Amino acid sequence: MTPLRYTGTVIFASSCAGCGQPGPSPCRPCRAALAATPTPPAHRGPHGQVIRAALPFDGVVKHLVVALKYRNHRRTADLLAAELVRRLGLDRRGDGSRADRAVDVVTWAPTSGRRAARRGYDQAELLARAVGRRLGVPCRRLLYRHHGEGHQTGRSRWQRLLGPQFRVRPDVAGMRVLLVDDVVTTGATLAAAVTALGHAGIVAVRAVAVAAADHEVAGSGAPILVEQGI
Ligand SMILES: [Zn+2]
Repeated sequence: MTPLRYTGTVIFASSCAGCGQPGPSPCRPCRAALAATPTPPAHRGPHGQVIRAALPFDGVVKHLVVALKYRNHRRTADLLAAELVRRLGLDRRGDGSRADRAVDVVTWAPTSGRRAARRGYDQAELLARAVGRRLGVPCRRLLYRHHGEGHQTGRSRWQRLLGPQFRVRPDVAGMRVLLVDDVVTTGATLAAAVTALGHAGIVAVRAVAVAAADHEVAGSGAPILVEQGI
């Protein structure tokens, strides 16, 4: 018998985003598995940018991210945002004190319009908004994909490493930005977003992702303004 939950006028069955079992999400075993998952080391983007991910894209984490992305488990964004903030100390300074207003704005690297339109939401935006709420920092859309951006799949490895092209809204110069994404694979998307923000006059960008896929990243180069001043 599937437990039902009454929420106003809608009755729906709840299931765990991690394992699909009927009941709360995440269920106790999935919550324990999440807690036991270690935080991976920092990731490097194709141009040497430092990208921190809170979790490996594996096991229960993979199931949770996929549930958020493809199965409409939108409330999973709050859980993953909490892990992101806590594990990467986004609410702390280097000395451990609370880092209120260490960033001026939280934003995200938008998913291609076609994908987000098909789903009805952009999971990266949901995560960024949940992170912003936790930090008490406004979340604003700063980045737009250039039109004609295709799917990551079907593009060559070289094209994927180059990453998508972003344009930035004009009134962002001088801001300190926390850039949030769901999964970092090659790092190309976040790297391209960081580069675009740097060209637009952002003074500091911290690029973070919920999960990192175990993926060797080719390329080298000097780190650019990631994590400066934060
Ligand atoms: Zn579960």
